[in-house]
Amino acid sequence: MEFIASRMARIVPSPSIAAMARAKELIAAGEDVCNMAAGEPDFDTPRYIIEAAYQALLAGETKYTAVDGTAQLKRAICAKFERDNGLAVRPDQVSVGAGAKQVLYNILTCSVEDGDEVIVPAPYWVSYPDIVRLNGGVPVFIDTDASSGFKVTPEQLRKSVTSRTKWFILNSPNNPSGTVYTQEELVALGEVLRHYPHVRVLTDDIYEHLIYDGAKYFTFAQVNPDLADRTVTVNGVSKAFAMTGWRIGYAAGPRDLIKAMEKLQSQTSGNPAAVSQAAAVAALNGSTDFLAGWRAEFEARRNRIVELLDGRFGLVCPKPGGAFYVYVSIPTLIGKQTPAGDVIRNDSDFVMYLLSQYKVATVQGSAYGVSPAFRISFATSTATIERACKRVLGACASLR
Ligand code: PMP
Ligand code: GLU
Repeated sequence: MEFIASRMARIVPSPSIAAMARAKELIAAGEDVCNMAAGEPDFDTPRYIIEAAYQALLAGETKYTAVDGTAQLKRAICAKFERDNGLAVRPDQVSVGAGAKQVLYNILTCSVEDGDEVIVPAPYWVSYPDIVRLNGGVPVFIDTDASSGFKVTPEQLRKSVTSRTKWFILNSPNNPSGTVYTQEELVALGEVLRHYPHVRVLTDDIYEHLIYDGAKYFTFAQVNPDLADRTVTVNGVSKAFAMTGWRIGYAAGPRDLIKAMEKLQSQTSGNPAAVSQAAAVAALNGSTDFLAGWRAEFEARRNRIVELLDGRFGLVCPKPGGAFYVYVSIPTLIGKQTPAGDVIRNDSDFVMYLLSQYKVATVQGSAYGVSPAFRISFATSTATIERACKRVLGACASLR
């Protein structure tokens, strides 16, 4: 009899975490690797947040807290939703967990039954399908490509809904493509879902503040207020405040779901770290003036990558409207041979070749459901970006 539960065979280790770990291991071993696999800002957590955390520790915030978030943090989250998104949310509609990942896991575990379908536009963040599968659900993918800006059309959404559909997952800005949905596009998707009252919307807004070209951010419930009671809005402090290691994410949604999530968390992890919650209160209540500088820096780096790679050797690099990744399509590289005679059969082969021979760490498109492609992160310095792009072009040039 197998010792490991069969449900574990339904998922794979997070490919983005695996890629980051591979890069860090090689760097620790002294290799000159350009780490373009990073899924986190390279900036430090702003100092006012660290100082608030230190003061909170000195003031004794070192104990268990309410299981799904302190009252103070829930109030700060409600104020954030009101201020940034025009959403009226009560504290009892908010759940806080150890990162948006745990919050998403809680939402899906509390709602997905065996055979339930969850619509996931591809390319998708790696963890959505696996969390659905772990819970016995079936991810139903909607394929998009660079020609449509990696956006789902209302017609595609309509065709994907069945009587078993539980959720439609929307992630804007998207990881890995950086696609940002406009207000009009969100309204058009809402129009489809109005016809299917059994479908709920799960929006992952974690990259909300990292959007470029002066665009204005809109979230689904904000522009479809009549659908707010069947929308769950997920966000967190990881990306906007460079707080990935602190592990605080949150969701606002219907009371029945939020209560179920609290029950689940009370039997699994318990409360997210007290000190991290205090830090998140400071982050959400503080001034976010620093974000303009971060956005300008990310935007310049994005432009540099696209300028260096787009169109060279058949690489296709749509300019992402948000997040910190460029999703590079590589249709012309597949089937080519390396100087050692190995055939590049797919994007994993290319990503491994790039890492082993040219020392650039990226993530293969197959992890995100749209191939052949790779994800290159610009959460790294311009100097590293320039070195990495030179190496990517060297790798492309070496293939015959
Ligand atoms: N959603 C998306 C789209 C992400 O890229 C990430 C990054 N890890 C997360 C959720 C989870 O973020 P965290 O758990 O750090 O809050
Ligand atoms: N979200 C980041 C990424 O996609 C961090 C790794 C992860 O949690 O998957 O790279």
